[in-house]
Amino acid sequence: MPNFEAQIETLKAGIRDVPDFPKPGILFKDITTLLQDPVLFRRSVDLLVAACGDRAVDKVVAIESRGFLFGGAIAYRLGAGLVPVRKPGKLPWKTIKASYELEYGTDSVEMHADALGSGDRVLIVDDVIATGGTARAVAELTEQSGATLSAFVFLAELTFLGGRERLPEGDVISLIRF
Ligand code: AMP
Repeated sequence: MPNFEAQIETLKAGIRDVPDFPKPGILFKDITTLLQDPVLFRRSVDLLVAACGDRAVDKVVAIESRGFLFGGAIAYRLGAGLVPVRKPGKLPWKTIKASYELEYGTDSVEMHADALGSGDRVLIVDDVIATGGTARAVAELTEQSGATLSAFVFLAELTFLGGRERLPEGDVISLIRF
């Protein structure tokens, strides 16, 4: 029986803290140090897939841009389709949009209107959940499409920001807690 807790600790140790990025007062969790390590990158994907259990998944919805890095690998492993969610104006086809509150003003995310079907069981994947605003907006896109949300999946969770409480009812999987 592998020691999951010890393995998760190695992932946690592989994430670099960058103070005051992108602005003063933010402690940025830099996952590039984990990604560039062959053992840690594979381990992070393996553990995320294991944490998803045996749930049936048709599509992985990955959030720009660091969510693509894990979402693509998870979708491949699960044999699911991959759907990118992007900032406005980046996707070429007809899109649907959801907005969310920032400290000052609002921001939006877009997904192709035909990316999800009403029977699709969906995972929403990102690297980090902070306030939860982005993931919540992506859940709205999933709902607009008539798809079924199976779970949110994050490599890391900034628990002190309470993002999980802003998400709709359902499973929230996170490997690393800060
Ligand atoms: P959220 O506040 O949950 O909507 O976070 C939005 C996005 O910003 C997520 O995709 C995270 O990857 C990223 N993010 C927010 N805060 C941090 C942080 N302290 N370190 C790294 N990424 C962050």
